[in-house]
Amino acid sequence: MSLKEGKSKKIDGRLFAQEYLEKVLIPRCKIFKEVYKKLPKLSTILVGENPASESYLKLKGKFFTKLCVKSEVFRLPKETTEEELLEFINKQNNNDQIDGILVQVPLPSHINEDTIAESIAPSKDVEGLSPGNVHSWAKSLPNLVPATALGVLALLKYYKITIEGKHVVVVGRSMIVGKPVAHLLLKENATVTMCHSKSKPLEEYTRQADILIAAVGRPHLIKKGMIKDGAIVVDVGINFEDGKMMGDVDYDDLLETASYITPVPGGSGPATVCMLVSNLLLAFELNQAKRNEERLDCLRDYYGNYDTIGESGFCIG
Ligand code: NAD
Repeated sequence: MSLKEGKSKKIDGRLFAQEYLEKVLIPRCKIFKEVYKKLPKLSTILVGENPASESYLKLKGKFFTKLCVKSEVFRLPKETTEEELLEFINKQNNNDQIDGILVQVPLPSHINEDTIAESIAPSKDVEGLSPGNVHSWAKSLPNLVPATALGVLALLKYYKITIEGKHVVVVGRSMIVGKPVAHLLLKENATVTMCHSKSKPLEEYTRQADILIAAVGRPHLIKKGMIKDGAIVVDVGINFEDGKMMGDVDYDDLLETASYITPVPGGSGPATVCMLVSNLLLAFELNQAKRNEERLDCLRDYYGNYDTIGESGFCIG
């Protein structure tokens, strides 16, 4: 694919999600009913209130109704202490009825997000942020990787965008998006530059990108003149201004310049939800496989190659 194809093509996260649901998740769900005779259950924990978290929850809720996923949301008051939250998570770590635990960030400032991420049992850590899982993705070993990062990769692959040899610029270096995206794209043989709040002037870096990933949390930070002609732009940002959701990228401003671009909403969000479910199913199946190394490898490959899978009985028996 040539980078410059005239007008931009929308990277449609909803289209991807629909296809991923039909071709991958729903067929795989049969396994849970027929083979395991149990449905995977996700626990989502929210402390206090946040509009981005609420929008993500709504999206997930709608999606889960079409799937074999049981989901329970626990809303804790914003005054919850770190110790209380740790105790709550510990109970869920030891609860056999729960297969995946997700603590929605941002957390109130008196709670240390790293401490919380580290307290989740690695086998239930569907966000891929516990130390064992971070070690795996930092070493490019297949395992539980943060869903938003997986979603970015899945969208690029869905649109058959060549990654190898490309210069990717990631704006934002968080553990939940920026860093895992960079690792996933390095694994795909891209050259990756990471930018953050001290990368100045930012446009000097972003203009070099063949593929630009924005994961900042600043509405419309990336504007006209900040990308090169034909660049591919993936906007992970979810921001709210006057109740309106908007990304980190000024979509309308870049439409003429980018060759591919994600909208917000309808871009990275739906792909993240797909990958979260994929992580939940993988977590459940890794647990079922216990010490059967051959099956564990098979499962990691199966879920890791999400752009090509579809055989529902794969890695069973
Ligand atoms: P974060 O606050 O943890 O990290 C933001 C990063 O942006 C930091 O590394 C910081 O250095 C960098 N940054 C801040 N200001 C900058 C500037 N002016 N120039 C360059 N870099 C700057 O945020 P996060 O958790 O990584 O989330 C980022 C965005 O992605 C948020 O809008 C969040 O809501 C969204 N998000 C979306 C999804 C999804 O599914 N689409 C999932 C998770 C997060």
